[in-house]
Amino acid sequence: MKSTYAQRVYDDVAGRNPGEPEFLQAVKEVLTSIEPALEGNPKFEDHAILERMVEPDRMIKFRIAWVDDQGKTQVNRGYRVEFNNAIGPYKGGLRFHSSVTQSILKFLGFEQVFKNALTGLWMGGGKGGSDFDTHGKSEGEVMRFCQAFMTELYRHIGPNTDIPAGDIGVGGREVGYMYGQYKRIMNEFTGVLTGKGLAFGGSLGRTEATGYGLCYYTDEVLKTMMNDSFEGKIVSISGSGNVSIYAAEKTLELGGIVQVMSDSSGYIYDPDGINLDLVKDIKLVRRERISAYADTRKKAEFSANKKVWERPCDIALPCATQNELEETDAKQLISNGVKLVAEGANMPTTPEAIEALRTAKVVYAPGKASNAGGVAVSGLEMTQDSQRLAWTFEETDARLQRIMKDIVAQSLSASNQYGLGNDLLLGANLAGFVKVANAMVDQGIF
Ligand code: NDP
Repeated sequence: MKSTYAQRVYDDVAGRNPGEPEFLQAVKEVLTSIEPALEGNPKFEDHAILERMVEPDRMIKFRIAWVDDQGKTQVNRGYRVEFNNAIGPYKGGLRFHSSVTQSILKFLGFEQVFKNALTGLWMGGGKGGSDFDTHGKSEGEVMRFCQAFMTELYRHIGPNTDIPAGDIGVGGREVGYMYGQYKRIMNEFTGVLTGKGLAFGGSLGRTEATGYGLCYYTDEVLKTMMNDSFEGKIVSISGSGNVSIYAAEKTLELGGIVQVMSDSSGYIYDPDGINLDLVKDIKLVRRERISAYADTRKKAEFSANKKVWERPCDIALPCATQNELEETDAKQLISNGVKLVAEGANMPTTPEAIEALRTAKVVYAPGKASNAGGVAVSGLEMTQDSQRLAWTFEETDARLQRIMKDIVAQSLSASNQYGLGNDLLLGANLAGFVKVANAMVDQGIF
């Protein structure tokens, strides 16, 4: 790093957080990007802004005991990282996946702070979850786990304090069970979680928001930076969960062609274009593996333990998980002529892959900007809950479109202000950082 301040803080974070590679990766990316804002702004160092930003306000860790279908007691570990509330209550999803660790939740919480700032809504950053895996669990087991999780989490959250939502492994079903338990314990009906069912305070458009938002963002980048559109483009999408499915839906609506989707077991390729109704049935209704797609569609192929990035595309939308697009994948995409990579997942592209893409002049959009549509509509759900009013799908979707366009504009404006040209990565980090940093300065040492 060029800035001695940023380097000193990074070295300190690395020393204090051994064994947290994902967290350090996220911190390094942000600290490296925001160096131009540190120059000529000694107030940030005077107020120890970086030192305070890299340390979560609170890191809550707890035991979750629940009873499985055999009557056996199971124990999992739960977390909530309340990272920064300078511009609003802590806000960020809950992830249930066997790979969940403190490092992963800290990287997600840290990124969430800047992402939420970019939405223009009053939301601080947080994240949480558990190493519980919903795969292979019965309905009753998922419900009992969610109830046990909330029986501990409820004391730390609240509609004006910390408002969790979904993430990997946590969709409408899990949010519903957790909300029911919160209501039972607290005896109050408040918007303490987002992604709720429509009958009890949820927002139309929340389910679609991250995937649709990613496409609105990408469409704006295509128009403003590349004088182009989705029309006729081959779009590769990884994953087949919430973000991937609705990214595919909006891509198709905007005239793009989707031939590949995946899950953690491999990917499917359909030369005739993915039949999204079939993917929804397999993943959302039957909750089966993506390979089931090839059992139904004659021309489709399933490639076990392979990644979608080996197929040629114009636009790549990584929408599954962190570090899923590695340097070799980036090189393969580049040699196949990819023009744009926009992240639907959080930190799906490794630093080496980002470097390769940027060197090859592929337009690269960081997740904290391009996938902010989910948390943006969560923010709009909080507004509707406060108003005790439900907006139409069109109203929410129109606001989402405006927010995503504005994030592109903010990012380009920030990168140009610092003389960096049209750089979506540096611009997003700079715009988010400056907003939160100034709010911290204004509110005094805390
Ligand atoms: P889902 O649980 O709905 O879907 C996740 C998808 O990614 C599944 O297809 C899953 O396959 C695959 N996947 C998960 N882990 C791995 C892995 N280790 N290797 C390969 N594939 C994997 O999650 P979401 O769609 O909600 O989230 C996807 C990404 O988007 C995450 O990075 C999340 O943080 C990010 N995000 C989500 C938001 C939201 O609103 N939901 C908002 C902003 C970002 P399998 O079923 O086989 O595990």
